[in-house]
Amino acid sequence: MNPQNGHFTLLIVDDDKHNRLLLTELFEGEYKIIQAKNGLQALELARAHAPDLILLDVLMPEMDGMAVIRALKRDDATRHIPVIFITALDSAADEELGLDLGAVDYIAKPFHPPIARVRVRNHLQIVHQRRLLEQIAALDGLTGIPNRRRFDEALAQEWSRCQRSGLPLSLIVADVDQFKQYNDTLGHAAGDRVLQDVAAALRQAARRPGDLAARYGGEEFVLLLPETDAPQAQQLADELLQRMAARKLPHPAASGAPCVTLSLGGITTIPASSVVAPDFFERADAALYQAKAQGRNRWCWAPAT
Ligand code: GH3
Ligand code: MG
Ligand code: MG
Repeated sequence: MNPQNGHFTLLIVDDDKHNRLLLTELFEGEYKIIQAKNGLQALELARAHAPDLILLDVLMPEMDGMAVIRALKRDDATRHIPVIFITALDSAADEELGLDLGAVDYIAKPFHPPIARVRVRNHLQIVHQRRLLEQIAALDGLTGIPNRRRFDEALAQEWSRCQRSGLPLSLIVADVDQFKQYNDTLGHAAGDRVLQDVAAALRQAARRPGDLAARYGGEEFVLLLPETDAPQAQQLADELLQRMAARKLPHPAASGAPCVTLSLGGITTIPASSVVAPDFFERADAALYQAKAQGRNRWCWAPAT
């Protein structure tokens, strides 16, 4: 996303029609514009459209700009949206208050249009960079799939979503079989390529929009399957084992199959509380070790409680 290519959305909040028009004309060539004519409407539109930046007038009847920014910062859905005050108040005290409340900038009216344009562009550049960093921080460097951190976030979200809907949540934990011998025989670089292949197989298995394949750490992966019951998840587990078999990655040191295989541990539950049960992951992990003990290249499921 480039700040100049029109993918950003600006919310312009001003009670004065003339000012809204002026600001819209100034920015509509570069960004998508939405307009609010009072504080309440601003809060509604901010929640509904998640704009990338808000240009906020201070002096407005009923709910003024200071009250609007306070409300935006109280709400998890809107607190991250940068706010620039555009205001006729130009005392140092007003500016200090605005910045103290969390505004990223303060532009006094009447403003010089090219300067307002550059300031907005600069703040959107920061938004853009922050998003890139967030994306990178959520991905595993070797395989390019989401990492454990992203998985933990997704698990918390999907857990509470399934708790609200009363639908089952399934989790599959996958571990590469006899991977230490693989590394010892063929080298760490070849081992890295296997992990990339396993990640690709998992990504193919995570077909539905809510599904998430992630690298949990080392040679351990996870597949999070919201709104998926045990038979459906077990079918996916079968498919994943078949996908790995179809890849036919030679494993010269394996004691069982001559190819790289996975062992899987699964669990399915209908979440009863809003926070993730502390033993949810552990029980899937225990099922995984059962699959190892039974001879690897298979899945075991945690018993329902
Ligand atoms: P099991 O079948 O019981 O799972 O045995 P295993 O050998 O797979 O398990 P173990 O935990 O003994 O060894 C895991 C190996 O995974 C050891 C470690 O060096 C390797 N490993 C972990 N992360 C990476 C990585 O990023 N790249 C490579 N190449 N190897 C890794
Ligand atoms: Mg292993
Ligand atoms: Mg392991």
